[in-house]
Amino acid sequence: MRDPRFDILFEPVRIGPVTAKNRFFQVPHCSGMGYRDPSAEAAMRRIKAEGGWAVVCTEQVEIHSTSDITPFIELRIWDDQDVPALARICDAIHDGGALAGIELAHNGMNSPNLYSREAPIGPSHLPVATWTYDPVQARAMTKADIVDLRRWHRDAVRRSLDVGFDLIYTYAGHGLSGLQYFLSRRYNDRSDEYGGSLENRARLLREILQDTREEVDGAAAIACRITVAELLTEDGITRSETEDLIGMLGELPDLWDFVLGSWEDDSITSRFGPEASQEQYVRGLKGLTSKPVVGVGRFTSPDTMARQVREGILDLIGAARPSIADPFLPSKIADGRIEDIRECIGCNICVSGDFTMSPIRCTQNPAMGEEYRRGWHPETIKPRHRDATVLVVGAGPAGLEAARALGQRGYAVALAEASRQLGGRAASEARLPGLQAWHRVVEYREQQLRRMANVDIYLQSRFEADDILEHGFDHVVIATGSRWRRDGVGRWHTKPILPEGHVQLLTPDDIMAGVRPRGGQVIIFDDDHYYLGGVLAELLAGDGFQVRLVTPAAHVSAWTANTLELARIRKRVMEAGVNVEVNRAVQRITANGVVTRCVFTGAEGFMAADTIVMVTARLPEDALFTELIAQQSRWPAASISSVRAIGDAWAPATIASAVWSGRRYAEELGEPNLAKPVVLRREVSALDPTA
Ligand code: ADP
Ligand code: SF4
Repeated sequence: MRDPRFDILFEPVRIGPVTAKNRFFQVPHCSGMGYRDPSAEAAMRRIKAEGGWAVVCTEQVEIHSTSDITPFIELRIWDDQDVPALARICDAIHDGGALAGIELAHNGMNSPNLYSREAPIGPSHLPVATWTYDPVQARAMTKADIVDLRRWHRDAVRRSLDVGFDLIYTYAGHGLSGLQYFLSRRYNDRSDEYGGSLENRARLLREILQDTREEVDGAAAIACRITVAELLTEDGITRSETEDLIGMLGELPDLWDFVLGSWEDDSITSRFGPEASQEQYVRGLKGLTSKPVVGVGRFTSPDTMARQVREGILDLIGAARPSIADPFLPSKIADGRIEDIRECIGCNICVSGDFTMSPIRCTQNPAMGEEYRRGWHPETIKPRHRDATVLVVGAGPAGLEAARALGQRGYAVALAEASRQLGGRAASEARLPGLQAWHRVVEYREQQLRRMANVDIYLQSRFEADDILEHGFDHVVIATGSRWRRDGVGRWHTKPILPEGHVQLLTPDDIMAGVRPRGGQVIIFDDDHYYLGGVLAELLAGDGFQVRLVTPAAHVSAWTANTLELARIRKRVMEAGVNVEVNRAVQRITANGVVTRCVFTGAEGFMAADTIVMVTARLPEDALFTELIAQQSRWPAASISSVRAIGDAWAPATIASAVWSGRRYAEELGEPNLAKPVVLRREVSALDPTA
């Protein structure tokens, strides 16, 4: 069944004292669950193990209260109290059939210690390196601090062994680790034996690896995760320094895990980097050590994975995002079910969970983060209790996922779509610059639906209330999406702006439908703050329009700080020649432009424009839903027992939310507890009996 080209991916790999059963390696990745939701995390990792990954790792685990990265929610191994939660996760990974890895981390000057209130520590006296500019400085570590750090790391290693982890990481990557700050010339200005030459800057890493080896004593494998280049020119760690480093320490760990630059670089979104974009930095490093190496690259294509191994770039195919989008990716390749792979679209909604301190979510895999609290599984779903017919109106992300999951439950499903194509907003937005990979949301679902004999798809079928009331379905689900507002209502204006002249007002829907500004000067008023304002600015500037982006926020596409895209978006928009006006709102619209207002002082200014593109807010396309609710008295005659709205038609949100909403509808249809609020399973901290 398996394509022999991919046999190489299923060869076992020896990692020190343990053996990975194949080359699929879920590298450590955050989950937004950590110490708050350990059972949810255990269930999520178990499913990855079931899906065929040979190694499944935790996210970073803080080894001490001086490495407290509050408000982020990661795991902790501060003391013995943390052991039961870690054991639950480790046991779940083992139950699923994988080796369990733990990423021990001391974040050094990336930890503001907001919870513990300890003074942060680092190689030098420098402000903490956090995203939030916390007004806290790290103090340069003394020799006594270094002794302490080595002891804390050893303690964490011992606890990890007690828990039963097979692979123990030392973390020096992503610009988030104390050990990396020691390695980096940018942060390390010490004059003692821990600063200066590379050998000195690497001393602490060497000592920690040696301590780990001693403590582990062959009972687990040791991994070392490093940033191969900080991408800071000669100011930071360069690729050639990394080559020298591996020359010095290459044989100390049992496995090298290579990452690139900061987290923003390593987890680059598909808008800014293709699959395997790390390759040029990682190629050639494997030859410098006899130990196996793992690296990432948002790998979803088994051909790319096999090539990485064949060309001697990697021994193990590392994945965070591809394992989130499809926890069963290895099994699908093993079984020759390539077309069933739910490919990551590279949107970083998963990362946004961590940044918003909420459980991980995924655009492609609505079950991600819901394994424990809702009992969802990425591949299976409970069969229906009784037969029923379901009409799904609208084939955007919500309708497609609802139809797919209802089809999987065995319902007789009709999916009606007004336009000629499936996909709704996902199909339209995938035609915008840099968003092509988003079409995978449609492709995966279309591929699944076309194979289901119990699902019929009707394109170019706009349904009105009377059509539905005449057809007669047991259940009707309205997934008719939303439309962008033209009237400027959003966060800044909660009432419509009344234009004072006949200026052209366009919406993102117009632009996506191919309408273009009439004149040369365009103002984009972005009061939405996710990606679309920035993408449309890029598109129109590329088409030759003179574009100004006006936003009341401090940044272009401000929310993309949560998807690690903020800086790249700003750079791209600036390079496209877009004039950026932050902290300003479009206050009034005149016949030949707009009056803007500074959000702080209220000072007004005028900007000439031929066209204004309103990227402010959306309205649900819920007329059909409202009409059907109004006609409830006619339902019995049409044998309709329920009508529900889902996705953007219920409340406009992200594509990830729409997919999730489709899945939720399908999960809950016909369930006995549907009438009751669905219980969200969650863990509540046990009270301290001694307090
Ligand atoms: P969501 O994100 O909630 O899935 P989208 O806006 O992406 O919503 O998709 C809504 C889809 O519904 C679009 O493809 C649109 O063409 C379709 N649609 C809207 N109204 C109707 C209707 N009355 N009958 C059939 N399809 C409809
Ligand atoms: Fe990939 Fe987006 Fe899912 Fe993250 S949320 S795994 S980037 S599809």
